[in-house]
Amino acid sequence: MTPMLEVRALSTHYGAICAVDQVSLHVDPGEIVSLIGSNGAGKTSLLMTVCGSPRASGGHVLLDGQDITYLPSHHIMRRGIAVSPEGRRVFPALTVTENLQMGGFFLGKGEIQAGIEHVFELFPRLRERAVQRAGTLSGGEQQMLAIGRALMSKPRLLLLDEPTLGLAPLIIAQIFEIILTVRAEGVTVFLVEQNANKALQIADRGYVLENGHLVLEDTGANLLKNDAVRKAYLGG
Ligand code: ATP
Repeated sequence: MTPMLEVRALSTHYGAICAVDQVSLHVDPGEIVSLIGSNGAGKTSLLMTVCGSPRASGGHVLLDGQDITYLPSHHIMRRGIAVSPEGRRVFPALTVTENLQMGGFFLGKGEIQAGIEHVFELFPRLRERAVQRAGTLSGGEQQMLAIGRALMSKPRLLLLDEPTLGLAPLIIAQIFEIILTVRAEGVTVFLVEQNANKALQIADRGYVLENGHLVLEDTGANLLKNDAVRKAYLGG
């Protein structure tokens, strides 16, 4: 089977700093794959390099076997990848509905309406706040909006960067439920998380990144049992 996403010996540099060092991984259609690692391990850099910004300094990114490494980010998006970035980055002065419209900017009017309706079904809280400015939403609501906005482009592959960072346990549980629902609807998920426990629980497979290097790869269930992972990421 051709992986949906394949990263081959990918490197990312910021000047002399090497954030991602020849990483190879893949995500198969229908999978949830989690990438865990501590602060500064290079998770965000890897995820964003897949989206074309920053640019790779070496290696390749393939989507459905086709090289997308050097495509502009908006072309990558049109091929079916969407990202919910770290820190949510919703447009604070725009309403919830306007933020969602931005996520589907290249769709037709009818498709945008249908997309918004779909997001509101997934996140009833957002429907209640449809005309509220995004900057006044709670952290959890902003995260829901960031995921909803990413889903507006009808991606086949959803990239999520730390979707539960700083959120209350109840909201975290809701976000992970939504990730499972989205996958059940046919979207493949690549998840970057510091919340290793939950991220590995819902993952088919996982990777562990340390200082820009991949150090482990296994099923989510096996990584949860792995001694080194337990010690470093699961509090013993
Ligand atoms: P976090 O969970 O804290 O976001 P991370 O695993 O996502 O961490 P990155 O944000 O990818 O890690 O950072 C990897 C390394 O690259 C770090 O050493 C960081 O300081 C460096 N780095 C990230 N972005 C930049 C940048 N724009 N300019 C220079 N260095 C950067």
